[in-house]
Amino acid sequence: MINRIITILCSSVLLLLPLWANAVQQVDSVRLHRAPDHTRIVFDLNENVEHKVFVLTNPDRVVLDLTDVELSYDLQKLALKDTPIKGLRVGHHEANRVRVVFDLSESIKPRTNVLKPVEPHGWRLVLDLFDQEPKAIKPQPSTPTLSTKGPRRMVVAIDAGHGGEDPGALGPTGLREKDVVLQIAKRLHDLLKKEPGITPVLVRDGDYYVPLAERRRIAAEDHDADLFLSIHADAFTDARAYGASVFRLSQNGASSATAQHLAKIENNSDRIAGIYEEEKDNSGLLGVLADLRMRGVLTHSAVLGKHLLSELGHITPLHGGRRTVEEANFAVLREPKMVSVLVETGFISNREEERKLRSAAHQDKLARALRNGIYQYFKDNPTPDTWFDAQRRENGGTRITHKIQSGETLSYIAQQYSISEARLREVNQLSGDMIRVGQTLQIPDL
Ligand SMILES: [Zn+2]
Repeated sequence: MINRIITILCSSVLLLLPLWANAVQQVDSVRLHRAPDHTRIVFDLNENVEHKVFVLTNPDRVVLDLTDVELSYDLQKLALKDTPIKGLRVGHHEANRVRVVFDLSESIKPRTNVLKPVEPHGWRLVLDLFDQEPKAIKPQPSTPTLSTKGPRRMVVAIDAGHGGEDPGALGPTGLREKDVVLQIAKRLHDLLKKEPGITPVLVRDGDYYVPLAERRRIAAEDHDADLFLSIHADAFTDARAYGASVFRLSQNGASSATAQHLAKIENNSDRIAGIYEEEKDNSGLLGVLADLRMRGVLTHSAVLGKHLLSELGHITPLHGGRRTVEEANFAVLREPKMVSVLVETGFISNREEERKLRSAAHQDKLARALRNGIYQYFKDNPTPDTWFDAQRRENGGTRITHKIQSGETLSYIAQQYSISEARLREVNQLSGDMIRVGQTLQIPDL
C-alpha cells in the first residue's frame, strides 16, 4: 500500500514538473512612477522572472527581455509625461520571450530589481531608468537658508509619508494614504511659503517613493532643515479607531500599543516600496539616541508636538482624547540634527475620517493647524539670529505678528493664539470685524 502511494506521488511529481518548468506567467499590471531623478516601471508578477536589460544608442533605447512571460497589460496606457520615454514597443522576439523597447529622448542608465512578495504586493520586477543628467536631484531648488538681507529663516522639511510603490494605508472606500498626505503636505507648503520667517521644503512632491534614510538625509543635508514633519493617515486593525496624534522618537519603547503598531507599519515602508541594498536604513537607534539626548532634540520635538496637538485639537478629534505627544521608534525620525515629529492626521481606516481626509476643506484645516503649531513653536523658542529671534527683540519680547490668510476671522485668529478677541482688537486698533487677507496683525503675548 505504502509503495503504491509513493509510486502515485512520484508519477504526480513527474507529471507536474514539465508543466511547472514551462510555466508562462501573465503580466497584467504595470505601473510607472516618475521621481525627480529616475523613472520607475514596475511589472507585477506571479513568480520570479528571468530577464535581461540593455542599452542601445543612435537613437537612445532601452531593451527589456522577459522570459516565459505573456504581457497582457497594454503599455500604451502608461503616462509618459515628464519622463525621458518617448514611446514603447512590445515584440515577441523569440517564442518564449517578450521584448519591450523603450524609445528615449535622452540617454539613461537602467537598473533592475526583483522584489519578493510583501503585502500588498506579489513578486515584482522593478526597472529604473536613471537620468544621466538629473534635472533636479531635489524636489525643488534649494532655497538659501542664509538670506543676504535680514535674519535667517527657519527651514521646515515637510515629509509626505509613503508614495510610489508604497500606497500606505487604504481607506474602506479605497482612499490611499500616499495621496492624501501629499495633498496635505502641499497645502502646508503653500501656507508656510507665506510666512516671512520660514522656508518650507517638500521631501517628496510627487507620487514616487523616497527611502526612509534618504528622507532624513534630504531634509538634514540638502536643506539643512531645522524641523522635520512627517505627515501620515494610517490604518488600525480596529476600524473604529479615530483621531489625530503626534509622535516623536522614543527613548524607551513605544508609549502605547497603537504607537508601537504604527511605528511597525511605518518602518516597513522600505520593504513595501522596494529599495536597493545601499539604500537600506542603517541608523542604529542607540547611537542616535545618545546624540539626540545631547542636543535636546527629543525635548524640543515634544514641545513642538504639544503645539501641534493643541492646534489639531481645535479642528479634529485627538486619538484617545489625549493631548500628550506619543513616542515610538519611527525610523524616519532618527535624525539628531532636526526637531522631528510624525503626525497621524487621522485614521484612514475609519469611514468617517476617510470621508473627512478626502475633503479639500478638511485637508486645508489640517494644514492650517500644522502651520499654526509650527509657527507657535518657533515663536516660543526662537533660535538665535533668526527671523523669530529678531521679531521677539523688535517687539520688546512681547509681540509677534500674524499675516491674515484667506478664510480667517478675528475670532479664529484670537483662538489660534489663545488670546481674547478684545485684546487682539485693542493692540491692533481695530473697531469692527473688517480685516483683509495679507494684513499683518500684532499678536500680544499673554
Ligand atoms: Zn503612514
